[in-house]
Parts: sequence; structure tokens; C-alpha cells
Amino acid sequence: MNDPAQSLAGALAAHDRAADQFWAFMEDRSVRFLPHQVAPMFFSTLGQLVAGRDAAAGRRAGLAALGRMHQRFGLYPYHGTVVAAAMVDTVRRFAGDCWEPELHGVWERGCRRILRLAERAAGVLGDGPHVTVGEVEACEAAADGVAVLTVRPARRLRYRPGQALPVCTPRVPGVWRWYSPANAPRPDGTVEFHVRAVAGGPVSPVLVERVAPGELVWLGPACDVGLSLEASGDADLLLVAGGTGLAPLRALVEQVASAPAARLVTLVVGSRTLLDLYDAVALDKLASAHRDWLTVVLAFSHDRDVEPAAQGDVLTAALSHYRAGQAVYVCGPPQLIEAARRRLPAAGVAVDSLHVAATFQRTPGSAAWGSRQRSAPSCGSERDDDAERDGVNQVSGS
Ligand SMILES: Cc1cc2nc3c(=O)[nH]c(=O)nc-3n(C[C@H](O)[C@H](O)[C@H](O)COP(=O)(O)OP(=O)(O)OC[C@H]3O[C@@H](n4cnc5c(N)ncnc54)[C@H](O)[C@@H]3O)c2cc1C
Repeated sequence: MNDPAQSLAGALAAHDRAADQFWAFMEDRSVRFLPHQVAPMFFSTLGQLVAGRDAAAGRRAGLAALGRMHQRFGLYPYHGTVVAAAMVDTVRRFAGDCWEPELHGVWERGCRRILRLAERAAGVLGDGPHVTVGEVEACEAAADGVAVLTVRPARRLRYRPGQALPVCTPRVPGVWRWYSPANAPRPDGTVEFHVRAVAGGPVSPVLVERVAPGELVWLGPACDVGLSLEASGDADLLLVAGGTGLAPLRALVEQVASAPAARLVTLVVGSRTLLDLYDAVALDKLASAHRDWLTVVLAFSHDRDVEPAAQGDVLTAALSHYRAGQAVYVCGPPQLIEAARRRLPAAGVAVDSLHVAATFQRTPGSAAWGSRQRSAPSCGSERDDDAERDGVNQVSGS
């Protein structure tokens, strides 16, 4: 019975109070690197990473956020002892009957290990934007199981179209997920996220069904995920979106629209049925505003009521619009990414012109992630099992 996740449940259920306790423990010992208002974000993220229940993509998102906090708040290795002691003390107080003496060592070692990984993530991320909070301004039920959340960050988010950033709702404290802004940076600073509720997932159904206007979300540093336009020079573009994979590709279209250089763009949008096509109005607007260079193609995989030309899977539709010399960008659910990696090169798409979004499900080094790690300093050649498992070497910031 020394499961750290179980012992953390009490603290997470009252995470504001628990974070106060954690912060006060350090304050009493004159360890003051952590601003009080960020304590819930730091405490729950560290706690969830130590508990270690999440899969690779979520852990990388959490580590990117913790790494940025590590760097921005100036954590030093000597803080580790007090941070670990504060964590042990806090979790124990809130764990009630779930606390066993051997958990003391489990939490202490776990904290030190995660702080080491956060330090390395901080090194990879380099200088960059702060973690911040954003207020949810609007939640639109865009289609069955898909919400468009408009968020106003407390400080302007620094990101490039095509990037993704870790997002966390305090309703599921410390569990971070990657989401891609669907818009190029706007003068008013707002950011649109397109979220599909994945059945059984811990975060996305909460974002889609429960988060309401006025609530806060936590926002981590934007990272390259293999979809940067800078990787393709001035080549014409074939953008292939499945479901909410449309979000970063729509942001790329907005980026092209605001650039002086003309290039032809074909955006192929796949969804199961017409009813599942959640961003039709924005797509219509883009297509009619930029007729001279933008073509939007719709592909419905499970709708026999649409015109025959629009029936079929998104990759088949994309291949029928492929022209040599185009740069091809693909984003969508993990199954689409895997299929694109297999099918597109086999159909003649040049591998060096293919840009496939990271899923973080593959082992480090094998994912397309990192095709553009412009400013990412190397972590060095040292490899340890923890870092490899957590994919620290694959976190690169904007
Ligand atoms: C770089 C990157 C960018 C992303 N951008 C977006 C985005 O803009 N909008 C968005 O809705 N999601 C996006 N995701 C997925 C997102 O991070 C979450 O994984 C997703 O919202 C589900 O979260 P969850 O906690 O409910 O379930 P998780 O615990 O994350 O996932 C549960 C299971 O569902 C799988 N899964 C995740 N997403 C899908 C999907 N769309 N279809 C089918 N299976 C899926 C996971 O691989 C896992 O096996 C992105 C992921 C990555 C890696």
C-alpha cells in the first residue's frame, strides 16, 4: 500500500489548501523562490509527476510546465531538500488513512527525481515565456463532443502558428495536456483552442463539458511539434487535418494570410460526417477571403449523404491534391498520424517535405517532433533512463 497516487488524492481534492500548506512549509524555512499565487500550479504538477500515473504525452506536457517554472523562479539544486520535505509533509497531512510510513521515502526520492528532470527540461527549453493563467472567455459547443474555448491569457502568449502548449484546468490539477492555438497571434491576445472530448480521458471531457466562461486555465510554454512553416521555405502547402487537428493548420493558414510572400495553400479537412465538421463558418470565411491562393477541400469518411466527390478518407483526398514540390503538413488523432507516416511516403510524398505533428507516443528520436528545434540547446549527450522515458530531450521551446 505505498502507491503515491493514492496518497496524493486527499491533497488534490483540496489542492488550494494543500498548496498553501506546501508553500507555508517552505516559507517557514525561508525558502522563498515560489510566488504564492503559483503554488497550486507548482504543487499539483510536481505531485502528479511524482505519482506517475500519466502517459508519455501528458508527462512531457507537465515537465515542460514544471521546467519553465524551475527556470523562471530560479530553483537551485539546494532547494530540492526543502521542496521534497514540504511535499512529504503536505501529502501526509492530507492523506489520512492512506498514509504509510514507507511513503515518506517514495515521495522524497520521487520529488528529487522529478526536480532533476525539470531542471533538464528547463535547460532544453531555454529562455522563453512564463507559465501563465488565462481566463476562459467563451466556450462554444461546436459539434458533438467538440468545444471551441476562447482564452484570454493574463500575459500575452508567445507562440508561433503550428506550435502546441501545455494546458491544465485546475479542475484536474497538475494534469497537463497539449493543445494547439487555432489562430495566429491576435492583436487582442486571445487564443482559441479546439478540444475534442476523448471518451475516458481525464482532461478533455472536463474541458469540453464542464469548463465555463470566467474560469481560469493554466498555460505552459509553447513548443515546436513539427508543424512550423519555417521548415518549408516558400513551398506551396498541402495541409491535411483530421478532426481537431485542424486547429494548428488553421493557424498556419492565418500566418500565410498575414505574410507578404504568396504561396498556394490547399487545406484538406477530414471529419466523419457533415455534422462533425465543427469549424465550417471559419473555414468558409477563410476560403472566400483568400480565393486567389487558398483551396479548402472537405472529406467525409462516414457520410453517404454528401456529394460523392466529398466522400472518403482525408489521406486519399489529400493525395489527390498532392503536387510535387508542395510541403505537406499533417495533424490529427494518433491513428491518422500513424497512417500518414506510412501512406504518404509510399504514395510518393518526399519524406523531407512531410511534416507530421508529434504525438509523443513514440520513443524519443523516432517521432517527427523536433524537425524544427530552432533555438533548442542540446541537453548534452548524457542519457539516463528517467530522461529518456519522460522525453525531456524532446521538449523545445519557442
Ligand atoms: C502536440 C499535440 C497537440 C495536440 N493538440 C490538440 C488540439 O488542438 N485539440 C485536441 O482536441 N487535442 C489535441 N491533442 C490531444 C490532447 O493533448 C489530449 O491528448 C486529448 O485532448 C485527450 O486528453 P485526455 O486527458 O482526455 O485523454 P488522454 O489521457 O490524453 O488520452 C487518452 C487516449 O486517447 C488518445 N487520444 C488523444 N487524442 C485523441 C483523439 N483526438 N482521437 C482519438 N484518440 C485520442 C490518447 O493517445 C490516449 O490513448 C494534442 C496532442 C499533442 C501531442
